[in-house]
Amino acid sequence: MDRRYAQIAEEAKGFMPPDEGAALYAAGLAAAARGPLLEVGSFCGKSSVYLGAAARERGTVLFSLDHHRGSEEHQPGEEYFDAEIFDERSGRVDTLPCFLATIARAQLEEVIVPLVGDSAAVAAAWSLPLGLAFIDGGHSEEAARADLAGWADHIVPEGLVAIHDVFEDPSMGGRPPYNIFRSALGSGAFVECSAQGSLRVLERVGDRI
Ligand code: SAH
Ligand code: MG
Repeated sequence: MDRRYAQIAEEAKGFMPPDEGAALYAAGLAAAARGPLLEVGSFCGKSSVYLGAAARERGTVLFSLDHHRGSEEHQPGEEYFDAEIFDERSGRVDTLPCFLATIARAQLEEVIVPLVGDSAAVAAAWSLPLGLAFIDGGHSEEAARADLAGWADHIVPEGLVAIHDVFEDPSMGGRPPYNIFRSALGSGAFVECSAQGSLRVLERVGDRI
């Protein structure tokens, strides 16, 4: 990956270490020949830069989806609250300005298509086949399950689903991303093809999950 993208991604606010970002970029490159890329959980654009760089290199686009109101853990008083992404005027978290600034800095505005909305609502209306879906949205059991159910069926055969924050060891992190990873494998529709840190990449080998 062009060092300039890596640098901008590393400087962006967010939750993806460089080794996982590089693995995400590699998955994006591999999947882009089969269809456009989509991520759930843009936040401030860190993972978007890795996937956007892959989309640009392969001549496709990245749909980057987030309601930009933050997950449970980003709300005031919670563990990952950050005053810089809290909009005093509306009294709510708003990561959209920070996200747009990151993709502008990376000069990826032609390649990254922002989708501002609820993942389940957008998934229910979606019909375009995708080469890759990266799931890094809400980490409640309900949100994680809805993301897998909503997006997995839009992946083309041999396309990829990448899931972030998958921890085999419960002391390392929450269960929902791990649970949907197990359920995707258990369905028989996906096989694991790579792992880096808490990032798991699965390939679609079967029918409906
Ligand atoms: N991928 C990012 C981190 C994502 S944090 C990075 O690399 O840094 C998780 C994001 O998911 C938050 O920005 C939150 O607003 C978003 N999110 C949570 N639930 C959502 C939902 N139901 N629909 C859309 N976005 C959601
Ligand atoms: Mg994450």
